[in-house]
Amino acid sequence: MMLPTHALVGLALATPLALYAPEFAPAALLGALVGGILPDLDMYAGHRKTLHFPTGYPVAAVPAALLAVAWPTAATVALALGLLAAAVHCRMDVYGGGLELRPWEGTSDRAVYDHARGEWLPPRRFIAYDGSPGDLALAALVGVPLFVVLDGAFAVVVAVALTVATVYVALRRVLAELAPTVFRRVPEPLSEYVPERYDGS
Ligand SMILES: [Zn+2]
Repeated sequence: MMLPTHALVGLALATPLALYAPEFAPAALLGALVGGILPDLDMYAGHRKTLHFPTGYPVAAVPAALLAVAWPTAATVALALGLLAAAVHCRMDVYGGGLELRPWEGTSDRAVYDHARGEWLPPRRFIAYDGSPGDLALAALVGVPLFVVLDGAFAVVVAVALTVATVYVALRRVLAELAPTVFRRVPEPLSEYVPERYDGS
């Protein structure tokens, strides 16, 4: 799923705790927001493999959650929510489309790399692909109530995420058509950083 959806779902995971224990709200929300986004920082370097750990994050989240319950501080709460959000991110990517330039064609059998099994998990396509209308519907379903419940900087983050999501979904197919043209003009030393899926084949 697209990055704004991951960011919003991360915030949603932390919101019940933020409402229940307001003193931990900033740590919980910030930790979950970072954890929701973090895996996709591998976008241009082994996407859905380098920073995606569909087994590692859930396994790490369990002791982190126990630690946060036994010893609740801003740091332990942020770490636990961050790992939980990263775990949910990787699971969500499995329920989306595969890794390919035009994911609506549905030809890829690679969703997320599972380092523990040493293989790619196949896409389930409950949400057809990242940036699909279904992806936007999910973002809105999660984001609109969050915008009502949260305030301050986090409400701004929600509004920005919803705006970016809407524009991205509107331009998703145009961007995919442009990508090979743009990246073909990239100078030689940079081209090794261009993901293979942008070669237009
Ligand atoms: Zn991802």
